[in-house]
Amino acid sequence: MQVKGKAELIRYTADPEQTVALAAKLCYSGDGIDELIEKIGDKDNAKFINILTKMNHFSPFEHASFTFAIEGVSRALLAQITRHRIASFSVRSQRYVSEGEFNYVVPPAIEALGADAAAKYRSQMEQMLVWYREWQTALGDSGEKSNEDARFVLPNACETKMIVTMNARELMHFFELRCCNRAQWEIRGIAWQMLSEVLKVAPSIFAESGPGCLRGACPEGKKSCGKAAEVKARRAELQGSV
Ligand SMILES: Cc1cc2nc3c(=O)[nH]c(=O)nc-3n(C[C@H](O)[C@H](O)[C@H](O)COP(=O)(O)OP(=O)(O)OC[C@H]3O[C@@H](n4cnc5c(N)ncnc54)[C@H](O)[C@@H]3O)c2cc1C
Repeated sequence: MQVKGKAELIRYTADPEQTVALAAKLCYSGDGIDELIEKIGDKDNAKFINILTKMNHFSPFEHASFTFAIEGVSRALLAQITRHRIASFSVRSQRYVSEGEFNYVVPPAIEALGADAAAKYRSQMEQMLVWYREWQTALGDSGEKSNEDARFVLPNACETKMIVTMNARELMHFFELRCCNRAQWEIRGIAWQMLSEVLKVAPSIFAESGPGCLRGACPEGKKSCGKAAEVKARRAELQGSV
């Protein structure tokens, strides 16, 4: 069955903006920690967080973390997202869980080729499912031992599900790289969904987040997509919708 990627924020540090502000204030204040905690609720955290961002004082942002449930995405996406090392991942196993009915992602560019191309792609997926089941049977049982080798004939398109946790600092970095038009379409789509989710609960922390072109010249140089205005408009629309 065909699936589409979805990222949902399922847990996050309580009062993420207060937590970041508290950690930062500790650096600059002679007050005791209890006193700081007492005072923190009354302060304008948004303004303070904005100053921290402008000063590049990013370590306090590591104290707020965000956990996402991501599903309907391909193993190709998995290979990319797990390159982000300052993150925690729990991924559905292809050893413990049989892919005997695997779902798959269809690239929009293939769908755009028309119904014949999409049907051809689907039949290729079905063929791989046949091969997978053949190997499961040939390898002797339908458990972990056969799954771990039968999976070698599965495609990158095969769906996976994961729980991902990143702190706010890493998320800012992730959004810079993966919301960029130079990032591959699937991880870019998930990154924009994740940005939309965190903006709802920590708008000040992520006020400047998104691809590099939002904050200055495109970091991609000659490889720039040249669509900074379009990207800025999309980002502004997202800000307005939360
Ligand atoms: C458009 C695009 C194309 C890409 N193409 C390729 C490709 O062709 N081939 C390929 O292999 N990868 C490719 N990548 C992946 C890329 O090289 C990174 O592995 C990935 O984006 C993770 O980013 P990162 O290493 O900055 O960040 P993270 O792992 O998220 O780490 C965050 C930051 O922590 C610091 N850090 C983390 N670990 C270390 C460390 N060990 N030493 C020093 N500092 C560290 C760095 O400052 C790093 O930027 C591509 C990424 C993008 C966005």
